[in-house]
Amino acid sequence: MIRRLIDKVLGRKTAPGPRILPLEDHGIRREQVPSCALRTTRALREAGYTAFVVGGAVRDLLLGREPKDFDVATDARPEEVKRVFRRARLIGRRFQIVHVYCGADLIEVTTFRAATPQVEDEEDESRVTAEDGMLLRDNVFGSQEEDAARRDFTINALYYDPERQEVWDWHDGVEDARRKVLRMIGDPARRFREDPVRMLRAARFAARLDFHIDPATRAPIAELAPMLERIPASRLFDEMMKLLLSGHAERGVRQLRAEGLHHGILPMLDAILDDAERQAFLHAALHDTDERVRHGHSASPAFMLACLLWFDMRAEWRRNKETGQSAQPALYDAMDAVLERQRDALAFPRRFDGTIKEIWALQARFEQRSGARPYRLLDHPRFRAGYDFLLIRARGGDAAPELADWWTRFQDADKDTQAGMLLPATAGEGKRRRRRRPGAKKDDAVEVKLA
Ligand code: ATP
Ligand code: MG
Repeated sequence: MIRRLIDKVLGRKTAPGPRILPLEDHGIRREQVPSCALRTTRALREAGYTAFVVGGAVRDLLLGREPKDFDVATDARPEEVKRVFRRARLIGRRFQIVHVYCGADLIEVTTFRAATPQVEDEEDESRVTAEDGMLLRDNVFGSQEEDAARRDFTINALYYDPERQEVWDWHDGVEDARRKVLRMIGDPARRFREDPVRMLRAARFAARLDFHIDPATRAPIAELAPMLERIPASRLFDEMMKLLLSGHAERGVRQLRAEGLHHGILPMLDAILDDAERQAFLHAALHDTDERVRHGHSASPAFMLACLLWFDMRAEWRRNKETGQSAQPALYDAMDAVLERQRDALAFPRRFDGTIKEIWALQARFEQRSGARPYRLLDHPRFRAGYDFLLIRARGGDAAPELADWWTRFQDADKDTQAGMLLPATAGEGKRRRRRRPGAKKDDAVEVKLA
């Protein structure tokens, strides 16, 4: 109340207060909230604080989707939250939160934060804003109303009270969810300036939820898109992976393109989308990954990166061979060169390199279909990923469908059928085998040219 009075005196615009919707208006039942989240909100309430399930979980429940995780928001300060629970950890600097554990489960508890600061707030140390309005630190606590106002989209600013089974809706998010509209809270241009990643989030949510972006929200994106260049590469990488592994990557990439957001975020995305051959392969990769995710299978960043960088790697490999390098060193040099080049732009973690290289190196080995090699390949720990990659290449016009088909049949065939499928050893292969020193490593021979 007092805050609203102050706001009024200062001439600040505030939301009129939340619309509080009962069960029959939103349909989210307490039982849909996992016990760890319920215990967390209950304990906070019993300690005298308010606590709500918030953000993506409420949105997804409202839309009849299964939430990925359940976050809790409260008016208790991080240290106060920590005191309520036996097993809780304070984490984060830019954005302090508390992890509350129940068994192996974990709930993220966030303290209500104040509405994102305007540039005038520069003097306040805990809110740091760059000259162009980009928000650099955001640790000012506030009321629930302020917390709702600093969230990005109206459908992401819903608070669910499991005790009363009520949804507190500060920005008509429930109505927007019904109309399938993604709408930015507040002035879109200002909110995108504060955090340009919100532009990518807009594309991601629109694709994932099959919503359309409200025209006023969409309007400033084209002009502000270059601001993404200022975002740390690691944050862009995480955001891109969320989009590419969301189960709606095909639509997501189309959405990025429609908004002019594909420049600069994934430098290779530019190149891929402008080249017909690569585009077919990318769409095969995205389609396949989407299918996998939607069927509850995992999709790894390493696999996606292997897809995105495949053509660059292959071209580099070919160039290396043209300079007289033999196939294998040419391959390893090409893999290293391509990964290093992308690392500068994308900052993807080195831990993916091993898997990416294995997936690539396996592609050459799929060509070898005589003797003992196909059997050894079946035992390779990355066979599955390599084979999935081969299928995508075949679908994207980069490998012979007959080859992919051969491996599809070979891996499930009985011993006799497998033996009958083997191709005769080529003269070259026979010679090489005879010449190999005893005990020499056989498996990583990469002599065969790729299609
Ligand atoms: P997902 O299902 O992809 O996790 P989510 O909505 O839960 O979707 P998170 O990134 O987990 O997204 O963020 C949780 C909540 O925090 C969001 O629902 C939103 O309210 C708020 N939020 C997250 N990122 C931002 C941002 N960049 N600007 C403003 N609010 C944000
Ligand atoms: Mg989330």
